[in-house]
Amino acid sequence: MQANFIDNVGRPASSGLSIPMVDPSDGQAFDAIGRGNAIDVDDAVSAARRCQERAWGQLPAADRGRLLMQLSVAVTAHADELAAIEQRDCGKPTRQARADVAALARYLEFYAGACDKLHGATIPYLDGYSVLTWREPHGVSAHIIPWNYPLQIFGRSVGAALAAGNACVIKPAEDACLSVIRVAQIAAEAGFPSGAINVVTGYGHEAGDALVRHAGVDHISFTGSPDIGTRVAQVAAQRHCPITLELGGKSPQIVFADADLDAALPTIVNAIIQNSGQTCSAGSRLLVAESIYESVLERLALVFRTLRVGPAALDLDLGPLIRDTQQQRVRRMLAAAQDSGIQIVAQGQIVSQAPPTGFYQAPVLLRDVPLASPLAQEELFGPVLASMSFRDEGHAIELANATAFGLVAGVWTQDGARQFRMARRLRCGQVFINNYGAGGGVEIPFGGVKASGYGREKGFEALYGFTTVKSVAFRHG
Ligand code: ADP
Repeated sequence: MQANFIDNVGRPASSGLSIPMVDPSDGQAFDAIGRGNAIDVDDAVSAARRCQERAWGQLPAADRGRLLMQLSVAVTAHADELAAIEQRDCGKPTRQARADVAALARYLEFYAGACDKLHGATIPYLDGYSVLTWREPHGVSAHIIPWNYPLQIFGRSVGAALAAGNACVIKPAEDACLSVIRVAQIAAEAGFPSGAINVVTGYGHEAGDALVRHAGVDHISFTGSPDIGTRVAQVAAQRHCPITLELGGKSPQIVFADADLDAALPTIVNAIIQNSGQTCSAGSRLLVAESIYESVLERLALVFRTLRVGPAALDLDLGPLIRDTQQQRVRRMLAAAQDSGIQIVAQGQIVSQAPPTGFYQAPVLLRDVPLASPLAQEELFGPVLASMSFRDEGHAIELANATAFGLVAGVWTQDGARQFRMARRLRCGQVFINNYGAGGGVEIPFGGVKASGYGREKGFEALYGFTTVKSVAFRHG
């Protein structure tokens, strides 16, 4: 059983209770984590506070950078081990698990280099004054992490928070958290001071809730579902705790008649099957110009029929979904869509080696999904691509912006003026022109508008969110 990690040591959950860890590839429990509660959270927040005030917060920025770089190197040295943990815990095909470890190392490298480049400003003011700003860490930073990309989200949120001088308490998801515990241990071995990185495992409504309510937490970074994000933001608002929310999306991939389809189609498929569709920025809606709609669907159908789903270790196109309830939800929504007359154009295959107890879902291509359908509006977190056609550019924008979300959009067109017009008019946090996802883009600010949340992670921009500005005005005459 895995203990919490507080003050650089493993500490069993004070409840004495555990939560089984289930392998999504066969549905069997293979390990357990502690069921942390408010006592463990209090312990971790106290450790983080001590460290922030006496050790981490006192370190020169360049030294923080060196430690983050050492962690990046150590993560790469443990790449096989971390990828194996992530694969089993999340059901990720081998290439995806390895890519996630590489992304974590890259986040840490990026933020290592950023530590001593983050600075304030001097501001012209009245005669006889000098005014400057300091960018100060919030102090203790809480990180609520989901199960879809534990390592990557650790990198982008904990990496940036540490770079800015915060000490961290992490509550990873109860479905997948083993890699986060291991990275915290590796950080301790790499020389991070006690209390800089603390992990408390457990359920969201217990450990997670205790963490966001804790008066000693100065900033919250939440990545997860809109419902829980809203609840967490309400709790944070009551005690005026700043928060970054990344709540997912229903992101459109928009294909104009002049698009380079040879480049577009593989990217479009990958954007919905990556991590079995369990990606906040999944391109789950496909909007295609009327004149090429049928031919695009025909070509995509050929690809979808070749896609294979199976146990993570087989490293096929898709692994399983994270858990049975997620699998049931996807099946339910697909059944309801078919009942309402929505047609399946093509789907992939679950291989015969897949144990029936695993949580498999074949990728599905749907056509003519009405805008009001739940499959065109709700985040599904499954490998289901909902297609519809558009008449012209204005109609494409209307459809693209017509959901509660606004995270990412992809646009495929060779027309340069149209590329700019689309990028301006799409209501979302990231627009990709003739690509989707830009291969991860550790350097590129990421986050949404509307129900996709607020605040930005990734890139240098994240460092602003993990700091607060203090203005200092000197009157010297
Ligand atoms: P998902 O539906 O993808 O599992 P959730 O939003 O339920 O996403 O979970 C994301 C993270 O939020 C997980 O770490 C989960 O434990 C945590 N969480 C769930 N409920 C709460 C809560 N009430 N307060 C704080 N964190 C929570």
